[in-house]
Amino acid sequence: MRAPSSLRIAIIGAGPSGLATGHELLEKGFSRFTIFETAAKPGGTWHLHSYPGLACDVWAHSYTFSYAPNPDWTSNFAGQTEIEAYLQRCATEFGLDPHIRPHTRVVRVEFDESVSEWTLETEAGETSIFDVVISAMGNQHTPLFPDVPGKDSFQGDSWHATRWNDDVDLEGKRVVIVGSAASAVQIVPEVAKQAEHLTVLQRSPNWIMPRGRKVYSETKRRLFRAFPPYLRMIQRGQRLLMSLVHDAATIGHKRMSDFEKRAVKYIHEVIPEGELRDAVTPDTHYGCKRGLVSDDFYPALLRDNVDLIATSLGEVTPEGVVTGEGEAIAADVIIYCTGYRILDFDRFEVIGRGGLSMIEAMGTSPQAFKGIAKPGFPNYFFAVGPNGLVLNVPYFTTLERNVATIVGLLEQMEAKGARSLEVRAELYDEYNAWMDTQFELYSWGNASCTSYYRNDAGRAPFLFPGNFKAYDRLHRKSGLEEFLIA
Ligand SMILES: Cc1cc2nc3c(=O)[nH]c(=O)nc-3n(C[C@H](O)[C@H](O)[C@H](O)COP(=O)(O)OP(=O)(O)OC[C@H]3O[C@@H](n4cnc5c(N)ncnc54)[C@H](O)[C@@H]3O)c2cc1C
Repeated sequence: MRAPSSLRIAIIGAGPSGLATGHELLEKGFSRFTIFETAAKPGGTWHLHSYPGLACDVWAHSYTFSYAPNPDWTSNFAGQTEIEAYLQRCATEFGLDPHIRPHTRVVRVEFDESVSEWTLETEAGETSIFDVVISAMGNQHTPLFPDVPGKDSFQGDSWHATRWNDDVDLEGKRVVIVGSAASAVQIVPEVAKQAEHLTVLQRSPNWIMPRGRKVYSETKRRLFRAFPPYLRMIQRGQRLLMSLVHDAATIGHKRMSDFEKRAVKYIHEVIPEGELRDAVTPDTHYGCKRGLVSDDFYPALLRDNVDLIATSLGEVTPEGVVTGEGEAIAADVIIYCTGYRILDFDRFEVIGRGGLSMIEAMGTSPQAFKGIAKPGFPNYFFAVGPNGLVLNVPYFTTLERNVATIVGLLEQMEAKGARSLEVRAELYDEYNAWMDTQFELYSWGNASCTSYYRNDAGRAPFLFPGNFKAYDRLHRKSGLEEFLIA
C-alpha cells in the first residue's frame, strides 16, 4: 500500500464525471482534492435541467456507475428527479460531499511552468493553487440559438429548453417550439397537453424508435435488491441494446438498415400516410444525428392542437415567428429546443504552458489525445474531452475508463517522483491523424451527414470513432512513455 498522495487536485464540475473522478481518486488514495461546482448541488445535467418530460433516453440500469448499481429505478427509462437523486446519493455514499464546493464557478486556470502548478481563480475572485486540474465540466450547457434576425424583438415569453421557465403557465397559450430533436421529443408531448396551440418547427427529421417505457413493480425492485445477479443480468441486457446502436451507426453494417426499417415501420404504425408522415421520415442514415426514443412524440403530433411545420426558423418578430419559407405564425411563447454548443471550451479560461490558451488551441476543431489530454497543458486532463466518448457503451462506462487512465497516470507520476506530465505532441498528432481516417466509417462522422457532431473541417469531435473494445485497448496501453515528464 503506497503512502497517501500529496497531490493537490482540482476537479471542475460535480456531474457524473466529477463524481466518478472523485470516487476514483479516493479509491486510489488521493484525498487532497476539491470539486468546484457552479450549482448549489451535485448532479450536473440532471440537477441543472428540469424541462417537462426530461428523462434518460438510454436504459436506466446502464446509466449508472458500475460500482453503484441502482435497484430502485422505478422504470427502464428513469426521469430527471430520480437520476438527480441517484447522483446526489452517490456523492454522499462515495464520501465526496466534504470535497464539493458548491456555488463556485471556476473562471480561469493558469499553469506556472517554473513550479509546475496551476493557479485556479473563481468567479468570486478567490485563487488557489493545485498540481493537477481535471475538467469535468460536461459538454452540453451553453444553449445554442438559431442565428436568425429579430430574436430579441419578441414581445412574448421565450426561453431555451436548458433553462426552463416555470413561471409561465402554458395553459391556453399559442406556443412555438423550435427544433424537433432530443429535448423537443420529450418536451412536445408535455407542452401539447397544456397549450391552446403548439407549432413545432422541424429543420430536419430524426430517427426515432419506440421507447417501450416499462414501470418496474415494487416486487421487481425487491428482486433487484435481493438478487444482485438478476440486476446484473438486466444491466447486461440493457448494455447489449446500446451496443446495437453503435452497429446501427456503422456505415455498411446490416444493423443500420434493420434500424432504419424498424423506425420507418414505427412511423407507419403511428402516422397515417400523408404530409406529416413524409415530413418526419428521415433521409439521412441512422445515427447521423443522435438516435432518439419516444413513445409519445409522434402521437402528440397527431393532436388537433399541434402542427409540425417541416422548415427551419427564418425570423422572429414581435408577434411570433416567420418560417424559412415565409409563413408567419403568431405566438405567445417561443421555446428553443435548438441544442447546445458542445465542447464549449471557452466556458472558462485555461492558460497552459507558455501562455497557450485552450480556446485557441482547440480552435473550431477540438482534438485531444485519447479524449483526456492535450499538448501544451501539463497536468490538465479532461474527464471526457474531444472524441472521449464511445457510442456502443453507456456514458458512465467511457467516463470510468477515462478517469481510471487519468488517475493511473497520476499514480505513476508520483511513483516516479515527477511533478508534471504533458502528452507528447508527435503521439497526439499521430493519434488524431489516425482518427481522421476513421470518421467516414460512421454515419455521424461521414460526409453524407450534416449534424452538430460534424464540423466544417470534416471532423466529428464528439465521439470516438470505434467501439469500446478498441478504446479500452488504447487506454490500457497508456503510460508515462506517452508523456513528457518534468
Ligand atoms: C437535457 C439533457 C439530457 C441528457 N440525456 C442524456 C441521456 O439520456 N443519456 C446520456 O447518455 N446522456 C444524456 N445527456 C448527456 C449528459 O450531459 C451526460 O450523460 C452526463 O450528464 C454528463 O456528465 P458530466 O459530468 O460529464 O457533465 P454534466 O452533467 O454536464 O456536469 C458538469 C458540471 O460541471 C459544472 N461546471 C461547468 N462549468 C463549470 C465551471 N466553470 N465551474 C464550476 N463548475 C462548472 C456544471 O455546473 C455541471 O454541474 C443529456 C444532456 C442533457 C443536457
